[in-house]
Amino acid sequence: MPLTGIEIFKLLPKTNCGECGVPTCLAFAMSLAAGRAELSACPYITDEAREKLDEASAPPIRPVTIGVGERALKVGGETVMFRHEKRFENPPGLAILISDTMAEAEIDSRLERCQKLQYERVGLTLRPELVALKCDSGDVAKFEALVTKVKQNSDCNIILMSENPDVLKAGLKACSDRKPLLYAATKDNAEQVAVLAKDSSCPVAAKADGLDELTELTSKLTQFGIKDIVIDSGARTLRQAFEDQIIIRRAALEKKFRPLGFPTIIFANEMSDNQMKEAMVAATFIAKYGGIIVLSDFQGESLFPLLVMRMNIFTDPQRPLATTEGIYEISGPDENSPVLLTSNFSLTYFIVSGEIENSRVPCYLLVRDTEGLSVMTAWAAGKFGSDTIAPFIKKCGIVDRVKHRKLIIPGYIAIESGELEEELPGWEIMVGPREGAHIPAYLKAWKS
Ligand code: SF4
Repeated sequence: MPLTGIEIFKLLPKTNCGECGVPTCLAFAMSLAAGRAELSACPYITDEAREKLDEASAPPIRPVTIGVGERALKVGGETVMFRHEKRFENPPGLAILISDTMAEAEIDSRLERCQKLQYERVGLTLRPELVALKCDSGDVAKFEALVTKVKQNSDCNIILMSENPDVLKAGLKACSDRKPLLYAATKDNAEQVAVLAKDSSCPVAAKADGLDELTELTSKLTQFGIKDIVIDSGARTLRQAFEDQIIIRRAALEKKFRPLGFPTIIFANEMSDNQMKEAMVAATFIAKYGGIIVLSDFQGESLFPLLVMRMNIFTDPQRPLATTEGIYEISGPDENSPVLLTSNFSLTYFIVSGEIENSRVPCYLLVRDTEGLSVMTAWAAGKFGSDTIAPFIKKCGIVDRVKHRKLIIPGYIAIESGELEEELPGWEIMVGPREGAHIPAYLKAWKS
């Protein structure tokens, strides 16, 4: 059981030095108990106390990593019921199902889709992360051959799916270095699968028939020394699976109930035969509260909306997506090229830079740090007026890159043009379009 704030306080140095960012050890203890502080913020905790406090400061839903290297997927680690309370931490992984009974051509085309279906959006690459390899044949050698093939042809993380420990062992033989998720330990095979998971240091999924059985199963796996667990309540209807997700999240967060404090796996592929309905099921569990969502297939028309939805839900609501302040060169500008200004809200940046690219007019785009706010919002908040823009123009280095002194500002802040000319002597301030779509026509007519 997690420690209370007072219990944590008893383990702290009680010097009230304030180095952790709050004035007293008691305040720090309360923040730690509420999950609002990191244990590492106090440099004076003894090793003995740290061991005990690790338990208290651990997220109520254990973070679990599947895979290795850059593409490793971290799921779980959630601390809130609702995004607006703080933020959701780790986006659910999306998996494509591949069975060892599928024809080679079908397997190849699924692997190809898995690799190819990726999208650039506001500077991020959106793509699915997992392949779920299912042994339907019951043939150990066939399954091992499938795992070997997938490992060689895909950098996606792997889920090995069988309730037969011998099949899982064969799959591990082919890809244990990729740290796959073993799906699944059940009440009948828990001990054998736990041994496999321990020997290979791989995470394991616990599959049960209902939450009571799941609680017993995760407790048993924990007793075997397995920590990295993903849970499956066994529900295969949208309603039951949704109810289970809510109960699991509530139990973990509000009751600090450790046996359910793990990320979940959802089989959207088993909840509908229709691709679009399946996508809707997946969307439901992206919002609440899937850790991994398995789909029967990846198709652009259903995958892309899911990836965008996932990105939107898992951004920090208190921190807008922002681009780094600076000078961006678009299409190879020279000393005569136009100079445009915009804010560092990512969406604004990508719209403006995209339209500049469309115009085929080489340009410099100056991106001012507005704390991730759009042009109008930043201006209204006093973060994108002449008093902040002028110092930025002076120090950003654009004067060394162009011969002219003409600055194109967004049409939405036309009102700043007069003051900007006063604060930037020698510069001509030109008012650009209000809408990004009008930038190409404006630039084509621009003369330095
Ligand atoms: Fe107490 Fe540690 Fe914070 Fe200092 S840094 S006030 S010792 S909790």
